[in-house]
Amino acid sequence: EPGLYIVATPIGNLGDITLRAADVLRRCDVVACEDTRVTGKLMKHLGVSKPLWRYDDHSEHRDRERLVETLRSRAVALVSDAGTPLVSDPGYRLVNDCRAEGIAVTVLPGPCAAIAGLSVSGLPNDRFLFAGFLPSKEKARRDVLTELAGVDATLIFYETAPRLTKSLAAIGEALPDREIAVARELTKIHEELRRGLADGLIAWFEAHPPKGEIVLLIAPPLEMQQASAADADALLLEALQTSK
Ligand code: SAM
Repeated sequence: EPGLYIVATPIGNLGDITLRAADVLRRCDVVACEDTRVTGKLMKHLGVSKPLWRYDDHSEHRDRERLVETLRSRAVALVSDAGTPLVSDPGYRLVNDCRAEGIAVTVLPGPCAAIAGLSVSGLPNDRFLFAGFLPSKEKARRDVLTELAGVDATLIFYETAPRLTKSLAAIGEALPDREIAVARELTKIHEELRRGLADGLIAWFEAHPPKGEIVLLIAPPLEMQQASAADADALLLEALQTSK
């Protein structure tokens, strides 16, 4: 079937490719990707060979128009280097154009680092706010953290290893006493999860300089955590009483 297929791919462990994703990558006409070498490896792992077209949201308007024209008669799979397309990755403009042109868009959900990090962190997950990458410039980073400090939710950021300790220091200043989780290299050999306050984590990562990819999570403000724990206790009590 012609149209755009948004295909989530593994964030490390190639075994995480879904059956549907493998099927679409085998059957599509073209794969639109960020880096043809990265996607080439995945295709090789699946034993398939397809035309790989580079696509990102900064691609020239003409490139996007060409892709949209192709989509009218052919099946195009959109993948990113890892994880779910459009989550801090290209695709938004393309999907939007397809919607405007009445071209079918199908999603194949799968791995996403933010969600994997949230599940494995053990931090409250009833409400969470994904905020993409923390800005690298100091003032912009501080502004974002200050803006989000009062939000009653676990905050999730993407982070790079070289910037980790600087970001932890900024979090320690703007959101003191908030528990932080660092989820590193999820699904890979050196997968690591560390939880603690900013100072403790900074000391750890200064002694053990991190490599690889990182999701940074910040627990909700403490009084709100306690409030929701109190709510949970009340609910549990109620449930116990009604079950008698
Ligand atoms: N679209 C992707 C997704 O759904 O996960 C995210 C793309 S974003 C450009 C890349 C960032 O995702 C990395 O800098 C890192 O913060 C995070 N990430 C990707 N793979 C990861 C992994 N295996 N472990 C931890 N974080 C990861």
